[in-house]
Amino acid sequence: MRWIPYGRQWVDDEDIEAVAEVLRSDWITTGPKVAEFEELFANVVKAKYAIAVSSGTAALHAAMFALDIAPGDEVIVPTMTFAASANCVIFQRGTPIFVDIDPDTLLLNPAQVEAKITPQTKAIIPVDYAGHPCDYDRIQEIADRYGLAVVADACHSLGGKYKGREVGSLADLSVFSFHPVKHITTGEGGMITTHNEQFVRRMRTFRNHGITTDHYQREMQGSWFYEMVELGYNYRITDFQSALGISQLRKLDKWVSRRREIARQYNEAFVSIKGISPLAVRPGIDHAYHLYIVKVQKDISGLDRATIYKELRSRGVGVNVHYIPVHMHPFYRNRFGTGPGLCPVAELAYEQILSLPVYPGMKDQDVDYVIENVKEILSRLRKK
Ligand SMILES: *Cc1c(COP(=O)(O)O)cnc(C)c1O
Repeated sequence: MRWIPYGRQWVDDEDIEAVAEVLRSDWITTGPKVAEFEELFANVVKAKYAIAVSSGTAALHAAMFALDIAPGDEVIVPTMTFAASANCVIFQRGTPIFVDIDPDTLLLNPAQVEAKITPQTKAIIPVDYAGHPCDYDRIQEIADRYGLAVVADACHSLGGKYKGREVGSLADLSVFSFHPVKHITTGEGGMITTHNEQFVRRMRTFRNHGITTDHYQREMQGSWFYEMVELGYNYRITDFQSALGISQLRKLDKWVSRRREIARQYNEAFVSIKGISPLAVRPGIDHAYHLYIVKVQKDISGLDRATIYKELRSRGVGVNVHYIPVHMHPFYRNRFGTGPGLCPVAELAYEQILSLPVYPGMKDQDVDYVIENVKEILSRLRKK
């Protein structure tokens, strides 16, 4: 049967050759390719610095470490995200404070952010949900007023822009993931971008056990001496992954354009379909479309999300749901006493959302197939 997943990596012969070349070289980890990847990435997103790590989750942890998040500190996180956006606060023994979202974009609601600020609040983690950059001017204005740091979880929005400015240059720290469903992949991998040199120094140490130099640097200097100055982790990325990242990054523009083109086709088709509606896009936004999300409007079609999900899957359309609001997960309920009622807009949205397939290698006929099936299911099953 035909199967169209919701997201998929694109790895070509050029990528494979770039990885193979590093595997045949002297340095397969923490060598020259890591620095090359970092420099290229910083250039692409117009940030001063970029630090590569082993995953997006490690990148979030490193950002929390750079900010010295510690026991008693609170960090504000939207609940409509992947669990790692909030988990990183707990890695540093801080407390994530969940905020609700705007009903039409599902992005964190700045007015709600302000209501949650206390003397313990240290940072805000806006998440560019689905690839739509948050309202960074508004968030920065709040952050400045209360002396808070802004950490953009940009795992969905590589290649996106806010008022003409690149995602990755908009916050104190911005975090990216290179998991295979994201815009570019290194298998597993992540990146943090910043303009702050002190953050860079701390994160370079943090990803390498808290040790001040790495093996490559010592080898180059002919020195055995090193000191561990902080408690760090092994969050290093390998050189062959970095080679893959470099090769992938060169295709980013083309791939983001293709994602936008698919989203445009969906938008056009769904204008005339009753019972589902795409999310809103704000003016001044260049959307990166990691996800293409529709809301299922049961009050209009009589069809609920579960029915449409099941019907599409049975026809080979790999729809998915992003996300169960983080505050609804058992871990958070048990540890922090969160649960139903805390973020009602997100809880209602969760009942309605469906992620349709979007990835650069998706063919026009696959896009048409998804559209036809959505149309057919809604017209055939709709309660008259
Ligand atoms: C993918 C993702 C992460 C985590 O990235 P990994 O590389 O899988 O660790 C964090 N936040 C968001 C919003 C993500 O989509």
